Amino acid sequence: MNNRRDDPLFIAYMRSFEASVTHAGACLDCQEERPCAVGDPIHTEFTALQDAWTERARAEGKKP
Ligand SMILES: [Zn+2]
Repeated sequence: MNNRRDDPLFIAYMRSFEASVTHAGACLDCQEERPCAVGDPIHTEFTALQDAWTERARAEGKKP
């Protein structure tokens, strides 16, 4: 069973992961872990969604 592709939280998580990686790939400040004004909310959102996803996976008894 794999229905993660239809899971809104998983989709948001993957989108924000992509946005975060894409931004960092073009931003030296963010690569050096000094989030810029543009990157900061993108990375913050990704971290929040990652936490939410991990937390829910744990609650469901699955490995993240
Ligand atoms: Zn940046």
